[in-house]
Amino acid sequence: MSAASSARQILTRLHEVMAGRTHAQHKLDRVVEIIADSLSSEVCSIYLLREGELELYATQGLNPSAVHVTRLALGEGLTGTIAKNIATLNLAEAASHPDFQYRPETGEEKFHSFAGVPIVYRERAVGVLCVQHADPRRYEDVEIEALQTTAMILSELIAHKELVDDTETIAFDEVHTECEVMQGLALVKGLAFGKAVFHQPRVEIDQVIAEDIEAERQRVYRAFDKMRDQIDAMGREPEFGKGGEHVDVLETYKMFAYDEGWSRRINEAIDSGLTAEAAIERVQQRTRMRMREIDDPLLADRMHDLEDLSNRLLRIVSGQLGTAATQGLRRDTILFARNLGPAELLEYDRRRLKGVVLEEGSLTAHVVIVARAMGIPLVGRLPGILARVSEGDEILVDADMASVTLRPTQAHLDAFEGRFIKSRERQAAYAELRDVEPFTRDGTRITVMMNAGLRDDMSMLQVTGADGVGLFRTEFQFLVSATLPQRERQMRLYRDVLDAADGKKVIFRTVDIGGDKAVPYLNNDIAERDENPAMGWRALRLSLEREGLLKAQARALLEAAAGRQLSVMFPMVSEPWEFDAAKAIFDEQAEFLRARRKRLPAEIEFGCMLEVPSLAETLDLLAPKVSFISVGTNDLTQFLFAADRANPKLAARYDWLSPAILRFLARVSQNLVGTDVRLGVCGEMGGRPLEALALLGLGYRRLSITPAAIGQIKELVRKVDLDEISAQMQTWLSNPPAAMRAALGDWARAREIDIE
Ligand code: PEP
Ligand code: MG
Repeated sequence: MSAASSARQILTRLHEVMAGRTHAQHKLDRVVEIIADSLSSEVCSIYLLREGELELYATQGLNPSAVHVTRLALGEGLTGTIAKNIATLNLAEAASHPDFQYRPETGEEKFHSFAGVPIVYRERAVGVLCVQHADPRRYEDVEIEALQTTAMILSELIAHKELVDDTETIAFDEVHTECEVMQGLALVKGLAFGKAVFHQPRVEIDQVIAEDIEAERQRVYRAFDKMRDQIDAMGREPEFGKGGEHVDVLETYKMFAYDEGWSRRINEAIDSGLTAEAAIERVQQRTRMRMREIDDPLLADRMHDLEDLSNRLLRIVSGQLGTAATQGLRRDTILFARNLGPAELLEYDRRRLKGVVLEEGSLTAHVVIVARAMGIPLVGRLPGILARVSEGDEILVDADMASVTLRPTQAHLDAFEGRFIKSRERQAAYAELRDVEPFTRDGTRITVMMNAGLRDDMSMLQVTGADGVGLFRTEFQFLVSATLPQRERQMRLYRDVLDAADGKKVIFRTVDIGGDKAVPYLNNDIAERDENPAMGWRALRLSLEREGLLKAQARALLEAAAGRQLSVMFPMVSEPWEFDAAKAIFDEQAEFLRARRKRLPAEIEFGCMLEVPSLAETLDLLAPKVSFISVGTNDLTQFLFAADRANPKLAARYDWLSPAILRFLARVSQNLVGTDVRLGVCGEMGGRPLEALALLGLGYRRLSITPAAIGQIKELVRKVDLDEISAQMQTWLSNPPAAMRAALGDWARAREIDIE
């Protein structure tokens, strides 16, 4: 007999039982009778997890008085082992297994063979279904298959309270109640509290036993077709474009989507009498089970992709489409996803979304850049967290400590509340500084600007009282678009940004794309992939080659700033000639507009980022050409230390306060003394208190930082005496203390400067 037909036989009979009008225990008793009979076994028993123990709920063949009496801890005996390991056991001689335990009240001593499968609900074992036989024999694969399929049906029926009394609380109802603290990688700092919402809501399977097998088969065929279309279309979307790991992901997806084995297994599960939804889930469960047995991280990654695809198929077949964003968000949402694209994140209502938790994610992922711009705390690199959370669970996100607390206890909440209040009080105190100009104690005005990249960011200018936008990352518009933003669209954005700035300065950085910030509509024509994207064909290097791109952006900026001041900054300039070439394109476009009597900006100034160390060697050549230089410490650090900024293993290794960086920055600042060049910093470094202190001491008077840090840095500026910190930094630069961070911290605390 095939696996399908033996399962089908059980399912057909189960269907009849379920249609009957008897009470739950009676139905469960019938279920074990049917299974025992269909698998020619003398015994069939069902154990369900209740209050942390496996309780015998029904049996055919064991002593009936043991029902609701025999209880086993997880890991105790064969049954407990199956539940603990979420793994099947199939033994010709049960007593010879090391975990075997004899329970006299059951009268099971006469049975030699034993097979048991876990009853799994939402990836947790919540019970065990087992069969026993007097003769020592191993159960056949088809019988085990049938047993597993039946266990899955039982899981759904029990979850829907069709086989147990609905007043009873079994493990199905108490999925994950305990508090758990998980440690990940802080991708966007901040604190948040709210309720868990899955980006892709879990699909509820209402019906598991098929009424019409042929109809179910057709539903799956159609779903497969649709899914394959979607995957093919993905290849044309920016997130899955050419370049980077997206290619590998897409290839894997395609491989699975067209995998005959997978669709055949789903078909076989339908043959056994399951609905399309249940069949997809059944096959997925089997894969998960197999995965637990194979300890191979590479394969596990691949299986993750299959899981993703399997969920996609489930959503298509059940019609439960859409993300949480399109279904309306509850207030105070903490969003959970395996990963997100930047555009997907932007679909969410910013006022309701309080935090994001990702199983994956890295510091330079586009979604992280966008979350930072949106001011939403984000913790990533938490593999397995999705399986430990239920929709609606209370969640604390503490991105400052890189932790996520699931179902926090009162003690957690109190501690969090304390920090949250403190952080809010500090924010409120900083907000009071909004209209206070940041003068140092000795009366020097420090320029404190903010970094931005989205139209919505501009409101923060008002909120923080920043002096302007010191870095507007124009590539955000490119990253969140499916196609190259046309000149007109770019122009509208820049005009809106200038309108919102209301006369304050905005420094537009020309696109910094390419490399890891790949946009497929630009990179399509590169045959080979950058081996080393951060040092590859990116930013100005790309813009100078794809001249049309820079021309369009130049024109969009010039038109948007008509009659106003325009500040333009070029990224990744490595040698002065690159600046000349880029500026020439702007000059040419300005000439074009002038010839057509178009209104030009009232004033245009150019500057460049210093993020490639080589530029520091030619500052004397560059200085006469530029109005300003802004040090991009994010990239500068990675190039100076030869340490990939996206690699979490290196994240804590090199300190911004190390002598190498500080001496470099001091030299740049000294080299520009006596020139008209305005020098500033626009990397993350400037937004951190100790680092900002050091920068002031090295002669930096202009900082462009994340809006969230403006208040604190303004406050810090007001407590600093520039002569004092400069003298101190001089001493430390020539004679670096063993721990610069601790030394600066002591220095700041002695002056009551808030450095938390
Ligand atoms: C930098 O590199 O420091 C910088 C500000 O630019 P980005 O982070 O966008 O590369
Ligand atoms: Mg940079």
